[in-house]
Amino acid sequence: MRQSKLFTKTRREAPRDELAKNAQLLIRAGYVHKEMAGVYSYLPLGRRVIENIESIVKKEMDALGGQEIRMATLHPSEPWKQTGGWDAVDVLFKIDSRTEKEYALGQSEEEIVTPIAAEYVPSYKDLPIALYQIGQKYRDELRAKSGIMRGREFGMKDMYSFHTTQEDFEKFYEIVKQAYLRIYAQCGLTAKVTEASGGSFSQKISYEFMVLTDAGEDTILYCEDCDYCINSEVAETLTEGVACPNCTKRGVDSKLKRGIASEVGNVFDLGDRYPRSLGFTYKNEQGAEQYPVMGCYGLGTTRLMGVIVEALADDKGIVWPSAVAPFAVHLVNALPNDPEAVSYAENLYKLLSAKNIQTLYDDRDVRAGEKFADSDLLGIPQRVVIGKETFSENTLELVSRATGEITRLTQEALLQFLQ
Ligand code: ATP
Ligand code: MG
Repeated sequence: MRQSKLFTKTRREAPRDELAKNAQLLIRAGYVHKEMAGVYSYLPLGRRVIENIESIVKKEMDALGGQEIRMATLHPSEPWKQTGGWDAVDVLFKIDSRTEKEYALGQSEEEIVTPIAAEYVPSYKDLPIALYQIGQKYRDELRAKSGIMRGREFGMKDMYSFHTTQEDFEKFYEIVKQAYLRIYAQCGLTAKVTEASGGSFSQKISYEFMVLTDAGEDTILYCEDCDYCINSEVAETLTEGVACPNCTKRGVDSKLKRGIASEVGNVFDLGDRYPRSLGFTYKNEQGAEQYPVMGCYGLGTTRLMGVIVEALADDKGIVWPSAVAPFAVHLVNALPNDPEAVSYAENLYKLLSAKNIQTLYDDRDVRAGEKFADSDLLGIPQRVVIGKETFSENTLELVSRATGEITRLTQEALLQFLQ
């Protein structure tokens, strides 16, 4: 894409009403537009990033047998009243209508997915199933102070699985856990799996996936010698500096550290709570009606985007890992007034496009310094610069956004490298 045609522009000043680094940078760079506290629109660059994150998530969920659906986000009130969520869920947006009816906006989809599954699962032979969607969620959050990390409207992947036995659910949970860890790794992040506090209902399994960042809202206690990690909310007997319970068991001397983290996903064991309250039974092998065991698996896609910015950005701007970057290459012509450089840049842009290398081409007639500052702010992983040396030495400058490392390459070597 030509940067001269991109309708968004970068801005120097951070918006005054945004305290979170993710929102400041994303707004300055033109990725998102704030509508009100906790509600953002995603502009061309932001839409590309969120779609890349969604496609990573989608591939992993498809690979473990998840079937993608798209559920309604405008919900009838009846199933919410049946499960008790209508009164119990404090973040539920309830909508009045000019008819007598009341509606809810989807904040999670158990009330919708359970009746759907019930209709198509008459027998144990039809289980297990896992249904998921990627879409918008609405929550009446009290505070929306962390930029896109805590929205009143936000993106989530939510999956729901139904099983004949607890054992089968726990096997599936392990598979999902590994997929989640791969998703975060592709997003350039290391997630810790906590033994979580659990939601509002008593569960056997409830885990949170946490990424260390000062922008997070959770405090965790974790061990650097093993995978032990716990949300400090539930760890009443544990504090920073005490021996890691896991390491103690295996005879290793290690102390717990305290850290601020953001929850980028979680897994709940819902048992038969929703099947029971919404009337979902299947016939078991003996022909008796039985409630399935249900699990749910959330992953905040827009929060993940915010956490990537928080965790990887530097003092010059955003740094995207390549799998989620809006473009692979930022092609910058540092000599916009030199006709030879312009025609060289135009030609290289054509070559990159023909090779399907996603390129943002800075063809604007502005000073090189301004182009470089914008390029740092936008955070595209590789910058290719056409400058004086392109003609004196026949080389292009390749700059890694993450490391700042500069390599000089011929055009041929560059094209080979980028492929
Ligand atoms: P939190 O404790 O952060 O409020 P939660 O326990 O309410 O999260 P879920 O309801 O299970 O989380 O939602 C699944 C995932 O969706 C969370 O792990 C998080 O990544 C994301 N998420 C939850 N609430 C928000 C929000 N208001 N804005 C953005 N992402 C959110
Ligand atoms: Mg919440």
